[in-house]
Formats: sequence, structure tokens, C-alpha cells
Amino acid sequence: MPRPIQAIIHQSALRHNLAVMRRHVPDSRIMSVVKANAYGHGIENAYAGLRASDGFALLEVDEAQRVRALGWRGPILLLEGVFDARDLELCSRLGLWHTVHCDEQIDMLAAHKTHVPHRVFLKLNAGMNRLGFTPARYRAAWSRLNALPQVEEVSFMMHFSDADRYGMDASDTTAVATPLAMFQQVTQDLPGERCICNSAALLRFGQPQQMGLDWVRAGIALYGSAPDYPHRTATDWNLQPAMSLRSRIIAVQQLQPGDTVGYGSTFVAERPMRLGVVACGYADGYPRICGTGTPVLVDGVASRTIGRVSMDMLAVDLEPARAAGRAAGYGSEVVLWGRSSHGTSLSIDTVAAHAQTVGYELMCAVAARVPVLVEELA
Ligand SMILES: *Cc1c(COP(=O)(O)O)cnc(C)c1O
Repeated sequence: MPRPIQAIIHQSALRHNLAVMRRHVPDSRIMSVVKANAYGHGIENAYAGLRASDGFALLEVDEAQRVRALGWRGPILLLEGVFDARDLELCSRLGLWHTVHCDEQIDMLAAHKTHVPHRVFLKLNAGMNRLGFTPARYRAAWSRLNALPQVEEVSFMMHFSDADRYGMDASDTTAVATPLAMFQQVTQDLPGERCICNSAALLRFGQPQQMGLDWVRAGIALYGSAPDYPHRTATDWNLQPAMSLRSRIIAVQQLQPGDTVGYGSTFVAERPMRLGVVACGYADGYPRICGTGTPVLVDGVASRTIGRVSMDMLAVDLEPARAAGRAAGYGSEVVLWGRSSHGTSLSIDTVAAHAQTVGYELMCAVAARVPVLVEELA
């Protein structure tokens, strides 16, 4: 028997979440962002659930090759563009679109010999100061690109730093208004398609604003995490978890008052109680920082972790499940995040909050040793 831990990828949830995003931006084309191996879900595992996308966006040529190998002939965008001149060869060969965010990338293109002119997305640095040309330098970069025989079409791109931030109320657009105005001003009379929204921007502002949404780049929401948690939850947005991390109880301990649990003895029992030891630890990608009280589902019933997370194990309280009439003992199912086989769910965002991080980090960090089971589309 393998260790009982498993990550289950729900293709139907990916398909559902993509459909939810479509309803928010019915007039846009959606690029599904599958960087970081589809946010830890596995590109090959996620593909069937996302094949109704209009394009895919990712970082590495290697990942692009894997999407092509799955039979995808549509658009693929390299979000950081090329890293060296050789990548341009592969862009020509695989028909990849690429972001252009710095002068060095324009230099490489200018020196590139190709019979296949490229489609590029010229990136504006609208204040995040990560990638892109500042407004003052943007139009010069556009003119240079536009004059290159290696370039067939230039599109316009920007990324919000604060689309998940709430101001006065849910309809407050201050977090996106300034960069958006900057983008509109610098691109206003230039011909080409626009691509600016991430999940948070498209869910929160997509419909009312109609802010140049030829293309949107949907990432985290596709995987069932709310980009603006805790203001809104995945349930509020009607998103379903695309990944469930499940394991089982491999030992049961009966505690008496005063008994302690785990490394550092951080938990001390106040009354008699039973705990279950779960085959899941930080070497599986479960955050060690999660202290006593992090939510879990035991036999489908909401419960909590107890004591410190070890490398290969953690402990959970069996009392809530027992109080609900479940057996809650050796072999019982424990859900660390996602859906239980009893139909209940635990949002990855809740667990992430206990780890002082975001759902993105947890889903990307599931360790290679965790076996993955794909729940395929019916
Ligand atoms: C990762 C990424 C996205 C997707 O962001 P989410 O918050 O996951 O929706 C969009 N655009 C760019 C440039 C990205 O790097």
C-alpha cells in the first residue's frame, strides 16, 4: 500500500470555473494561465477541464511544448517573453506569442532570423515596477517593434498590482483606476488588441467597466480560489475547488488531561479526548506554520489540527466527527483542503489564511511525492 495521501484533480471543477469566468466577461477571450505546472495541478491533468479556453498563458517554452503536445493548436502566450535568443527559434517553430517587456527582448527580436513573423504583447509598467516599459518609454518601444519585419502584430498588455484590494466598498475601483487610466492614455490611438485583467480584476470589474477586454488572463479563480479572499470566498464567486488534498488516519491516541501532542509539546489536553494521526506533513507541502486550530475535515466533518505539523504527519481532533455520529478512527478520511468524499468542502483559502499566505502558494507547493489522481470529465 502506498501512503494514503493523495491530491485529487477535479477536471469538472476547472470546466465549471472557466464557465463562471466566461459569464463575467462574455465579450472577451480567455487565456487560462497554466504557469507553474497549472498552479501545481499538472498541465496534463488540467488540460481537459480547460480546453474550452481561447488560449493558454505560461512562462516557459518547455511548458508551451507540453501544451502543444496535448494537441492544442490555439494561442499560447509566454507571460515573461523570451529569456534568450534561442527561445525565439522555438517561438517561431511552436507558433508562440510572447510578451515584450524590455529593450533587450526587442534587440533579440531585431537580430532574429525567421520566416514566421511573431505576434508580441508589449507590456506597460503601470506602477508595479516588475516588468514592462514605463509610460514615458512605451510608445518608443512600440514604434521600434512595429517597424521590425520579425513582428507581425503588436498587442498591448498590463498587469494590476492591486486588483484584489478593497477600498471603500466592493464597487470601489480606486485600486485599478489609476493604472487603467495610464494604460488607456498611452495606448489610446494605437491599433491592436488589449490584454490586462487577472482573475481579481475580471471578477470584480470585468463587466461594468468593459475596460479593453479583448483578452483576459484568468489564473487562480480557475483553480477554485477566491482572488479577493477574505472579502469574498470561493463560494461567493461560485467557484469549485479544482484540487483536493486528502489523506487518512494512520493512528489514534486517547489523551488524558495534561497530555501533550507533537514536537515542542505545544498542545496540552484540557480534557479526555481522542486524536487521529494523519499521513500528511510539511514534506507533502502542508505548511508547518499552521498551528493548532487549522481547519480540516474528518470523515467529512469540520474539525481542527492539533499541535505542530511534522515532516510526515499531523494530528487532528476526532471529537467533532464523533459528536456528529461518524466513526472517526483508524483509516478515516481527512481532507486538508478541497472536497471530501462525503460532499463537504474546505476552501484552500481558509487553510492559507492560517498559514499567513494565499491559496496560490499552497496549491503550487504540493510536493512531488504526493500521488495525483485525476477525476476525469464524465
Ligand atoms: C499569473 C499571472 C496572471 C494570473 O493571475 P491570477 O491572479 O492567478 O488570476 C495574469 N497575468 C500575469 C502577467 C500573470 O503573471
